[in-house]
Amino acid sequence: MKVLVTNDDGVRAPGLWALVKSLQTVAEVVVVAPDREQSGVGTSISLHNPLRITPVDAPPIKDVETYAAEGTPGDAVILALSHLVKGGVDMVLAGINEGANLGNDVYISGTVGAAFQGWFYGVPSVALSVGALHDVKFEAAAKLAPLLVGLFARGKLPRNLLLNVTLPNASLYDIQGIEVGRLARRTYADVVEEGWDGKRKYYWIVRGNAEWKDEPGTDVRAVRMGRISLTPLSSSNPQLLTTLRRLCFPLYAELLTARPGD
Ligand code: MN
Repeated sequence: MKVLVTNDDGVRAPGLWALVKSLQTVAEVVVVAPDREQSGVGTSISLHNPLRITPVDAPPIKDVETYAAEGTPGDAVILALSHLVKGGVDMVLAGINEGANLGNDVYISGTVGAAFQGWFYGVPSVALSVGALHDVKFEAAAKLAPLLVGLFARGKLPRNLLLNVTLPNASLYDIQGIEVGRLARRTYADVVEEGWDGKRKYYWIVRGNAEWKDEPGTDVRAVRMGRISLTPLSSSNPQLLTTLRRLCFPLYAELLTARPGD
């Protein structure tokens, strides 16, 4: 398996390297990620300016082919799949993002945006996020990633799948399970702050606290209950949902047998 790893937190983000370290055990990994943080840019791509790519000579993990790309996460995936990575990849993994991507948020998430772009190329794609912005625990997500790659490699998951995965910010053995959650209805009280740059007024959109309908069966509820949420974004075909639900428990059991420090 050859896997493209990208993210929206930027090529230096610790979550990306936790993911790479873990995936190296099961796949050949190439990293093409934005050169700076691009959270919240969704699926956007750059059509009005040129993009530069910088090979990273000394990546945090030795000998991993790594490129820092100008532009959005979607741009990084396009540059990777259309230009940089000869012979294509078997999967795209985006993350591990710092911060949940649940409910409506998936449509503005750069992490999910990168996964969308991989899926547009016909490559099975997974977005991985942990629901915290501080003291983020990457271990469980990092251990889950190679298990998901294994499911695709063994044909247990369809190749046309775009999967959004959000984990609670918990240690591996505090994770309460894995379930398939539909997107919750989540609303934000966005605030527009006004300022003065010395010449003109400016406005700054500040994300307020999220409010959500905490309904059973949603991704928000799953993560609140300490479970990992899997949400297919490519299809709500009942057969696919059944397939995913059947995989949840074996996947959870397998995750718990992953030893700390593996
Ligand atoms: Mn992010």
